[in-house]
Amino acid sequence: MNQCQIDLAKTPNGGLGREIVHKSLAVELSERDRAELHVHMNGAIPVSTIQDIFADELTELPSGFLIERDMLRHTPCQSLASYLTPWQVLRLFPKKRENLDRLSLAVVSSLAQNNVRFVELRSSVLYLAALQNCSPAQALERLLESSRTASDRFGMRLGLVLTVTRGDYSSVGLSTLLQAYQDLGEPDDVVGLDLAGDEEIAYPAELPSLFRKAKDRFGFGITIHAGETGRVENVRSAVELFGADRIGHGTAASKDPHLLDLLARQDICIEVCPISNRLTGAVPVDEAHPLLEFRRHQVPFVICSDNPAIHQRGLADDHATAMTEGLSANDISEQFDIAKRYSFIEGLN
Ligand SMILES: [Zn+2]
Repeated sequence: MNQCQIDLAKTPNGGLGREIVHKSLAVELSERDRAELHVHMNGAIPVSTIQDIFADELTELPSGFLIERDMLRHTPCQSLASYLTPWQVLRLFPKKRENLDRLSLAVVSSLAQNNVRFVELRSSVLYLAALQNCSPAQALERLLESSRTASDRFGMRLGLVLTVTRGDYSSVGLSTLLQAYQDLGEPDDVVGLDLAGDEEIAYPAELPSLFRKAKDRFGFGITIHAGETGRVENVRSAVELFGADRIGHGTAASKDPHLLDLLARQDICIEVCPISNRLTGAVPVDEAHPLLEFRRHQVPFVICSDNPAIHQRGLADDHATAMTEGLSANDISEQFDIAKRYSFIEGLN
């Protein structure tokens, strides 16, 4: 059994792919250039690196937290909250500057193993300032420096996307991040803004206009996690209020043909994360993945991995899983060019 067949056999549908993956195609898939437009930095740190950093920083795991049970996600979770259990630990490090360098290198190395040529890496940055006892601008500077060093080493283009978390403090968080970005002289490798977090939680009324202003002023791309927990209206407001260029997940949009037409008309790309969508329950086990519905309505989409280390998989597995969900080999072969077209990183060729 070659590697690709092994990967397909591990997919949530139990390997019931409609595509027969011949060895030559498997080789082609494994060697193909890839691009990653939706990956969370702290969901991409190999567990061995996390354990090493915990030991070095003398950090204790929260009481009752078991690495094998609580850090990794291999089977569909009861709820998104349950899927997010690993973040109880992922917010506790790195306290040391050198461990930020260490984890950046591990993240980029994992991406390189999946033939990722360019990546938009997401981070909420501010937790780093608290952990490392430094200003938000220093935290952003450290993150940029360590991710630049890592990406240079692997010859990978890297853009940073600043993640804002939904909730009462989202406007303050965004303003703080933008000030840090300006304090550093508006570095070119900060390429976009992301809104993440619990979609059931309200946000301050001014938040959408703050996103739009940042887009106009700094030229950021905007991506919004929306429609992952069934809220169709969040996808619509991402487009109409936040000025989103891309939608993270967007699975609920498939329930509204008018919304799909809007996404197609405005050329809004959906970041489809096939493995994550099954594990979070965004797509229930007994339902088809909506990516075929996206294709039918000519909504552009790009296959991404979301939190590959939590899944103990990589982008190559997400591409293989997308095939078991109904994409053709030809669809997969177009993915690199689609990612280039919708990436917020400039000057890709
Ligand atoms: Zn995500």
